[in-house]
Amino acid sequence: MLHIGSHLSSSAGFLAMGETALSMAADTFQFFTRNPRGSRAKELDVSDAAALASLLQEKGFAPVVAHAPYTINPCSKDAHTREFAHMTMEDDLHRLEYLPGNYYNFHPGSHTGQGTETGIALIAETLNAILTPEQHTVVLLETMAGKGTEVGGRFEELREILDRVSLSDRMGVCLDTCHVSDAGYDIAADPDKVLTEFDRVIGLSRLKAVHVNDSMNPVGARKDRHAKIGEGHLGLEGFRRIVRHPVIRQLPLILETPNELPGYAAEIALLRSL
Ligand code: FE
Ligand code: FE
Ligand code: ZN
Repeated sequence: MLHIGSHLSSSAGFLAMGETALSMAADTFQFFTRNPRGSRAKELDVSDAAALASLLQEKGFAPVVAHAPYTINPCSKDAHTREFAHMTMEDDLHRLEYLPGNYYNFHPGSHTGQGTETGIALIAETLNAILTPEQHTVVLLETMAGKGTEVGGRFEELREILDRVSLSDRMGVCLDTCHVSDAGYDIAADPDKVLTEFDRVIGLSRLKAVHVNDSMNPVGARKDRHAKIGEGHLGLEGFRRIVRHPVIRQLPLILETPNELPGYAAEIALLRSL
């Protein structure tokens, strides 16, 4: 059976997300570690985190995905912005030790004019400063659409980041279907070809999770506008091919489509039916 869930609001707490996921027949989910646009994180409720951790285990959830705020940028040309990313990620990883064995996904960043190579070096520098051998969380680089000065639109760029991280066994990749399509990888037409390329450049053992999103734009558009499943350029037939791929079927799949909970529940059922 597919491991699938959606992005959920964390405003009602950890255990509430687990219960919401169960009500949608999901066995994974994703949440923002803090306000996606802001910086402040709520005081961690240790007993709430423990309650979720035991629910996840009891109900046999696949790993869940904590998503860093998308405003952090560990490869900005501005040193204060980089420092803020460093502090945020370090604090998030510390908190995630209360939900051990899950994933922390982040957008590698935008080089803001410094060039991709400098961006890659700065991202790796941040990771080397925050990863610890003791941590129980695997940090995921998200594949990006390649818009503007984003780093991570090419698999080669993610590989270069991974190559520079010392605690490499604490790192993986989350593939976003909208983003890779926007970046020029035609995953809807031929998922096996894209995964073969991923394997050649990065290695399939690094692939830990998938963001399942349709795209409002055609292959190579570099826009990053998510669409509901079957309502974008990847299309229902594209997703039939994607979720039937033997590699993808083993991974936690997370919907980040423009939906409220009933829409997510319907898409979970739809993808399972494919
Ligand atoms: Fe993301
Ligand atoms: Fe995503
Ligand atoms: Zn996106």
